[in-house]
Amino acid sequence: MDETLLMIPGPTRVAQRVLKAMSENIVNHRSALFGKILSETSEMMSDVFRTNNKSYLLTGSGTAAMEAAIANIIEPGDKVLNVVGGKFGQRFSQIVEAFGGESIRIDVEWGKAVNPDEIGYALEENDDIKAVTVVHNETSTGVANPIKEIGKIMSDYDALYVVDTVSSLGGDEVDVDGYGIDICVTGSQKCLAAPPGMAAITLSDDAWSAVEGVSNSRTYYLNLKKYRKSGDAEPPETPYTPAVSLIYAMHEPLKVIMEEGLNNRIKRHKLAAEATRNAIKALGLELFPDESVSSTTVTAVRLPEGVTDGELRGTMRNKYHVELAGGQDHLKGKIFRIGHMGNITHRELITTISGLEMTLRELGFEVEMGEAVAAVADTYLPENL
Ligand SMILES: *Cc1c(COP(=O)(O)O)cnc(C)c1O
Repeated sequence: MDETLLMIPGPTRVAQRVLKAMSENIVNHRSALFGKILSETSEMMSDVFRTNNKSYLLTGSGTAAMEAAIANIIEPGDKVLNVVGGKFGQRFSQIVEAFGGESIRIDVEWGKAVNPDEIGYALEENDDIKAVTVVHNETSTGVANPIKEIGKIMSDYDALYVVDTVSSLGGDEVDVDGYGIDICVTGSQKCLAAPPGMAAITLSDDAWSAVEGVSNSRTYYLNLKKYRKSGDAEPPETPYTPAVSLIYAMHEPLKVIMEEGLNNRIKRHKLAAEATRNAIKALGLELFPDESVSSTTVTAVRLPEGVTDGELRGTMRNKYHVELAGGQDHLKGKIFRIGHMGNITHRELITTISGLEMTLRELGFEVEMGEAVAAVADTYLPENL
């Protein structure tokens, strides 16, 4: 069993009780027994999404839910406005094109958040935009987009509001009904701290009307009408054989989230993000995004001058057994990322930051040993909470 500490933005380490749940025997997926697990899981999913609408579990990673969100609401030629400020924003745009839609992009510099007004301007200019996609937490850059403020602007328009909360749900504030989100998608292996391989989606009444209005949907496996029909059956089912063990492994971590309390969990993530930023500043390193827009679940840091990504992450991995993430696309070799999502507490952060101090010192970077670790500890001191 590999004991490397995963400090990456997914997959995240899962609790022992989740591994145990996953090892339960397989049951008939069209039985009352499984139906109960499935309906409890989707109800807890809706609670985490903060919606009164039903949630559906899809076998596949987060991208499957992104694809389902687009494939079910557009027909060839339909216009979708995609906010693109990183890898995942780009993915939504590519999915739109893959299904024959026209992707209109708002390109945001990587490392910056979108200005919600830009979305309003774009919708004024094109009154036939069917949907707007926003990535809440742009994992590739460590930026959190203002989905609440965007929701206020979206309420003036008919376009559907589609939000990717794959790396924020269960770690940062997401309120699907409160923000007026029409379609919200997430994945299992990030803040929910479940194993990879499951995705979830929830749709508003307006979104369902759009789904019903699509006469020649190009997707078969991810046809959401089928998921709704099976999900509403008694006992509830999925249209095709689900990853039964992974449903167990979603049910259990969602119970963990309910026990911790969603608000407590979000607070814990905020504290981990703050501690990480304090440590980075104490090390004299530079945060990649501006602090005002920086993510609650992953912190992106500029690689210091004279230190390569391979050296830094290689030493962290091989010597200190902490796995960090690198940059993607043009940020490769320019930034590294510390994931602090899922079950992360001060314990993992202190290990990570002390490893980072030792690594940087070893690579010739001037470090006052213990200062960054103290910055983490200080953040968690009761008098500073
Ligand atoms: C991880 C992630 C996804 C989905 O990636 P998968 O590898 O398909 O699970 C989508 N959006 C964001 C913001 C992510 O962080």
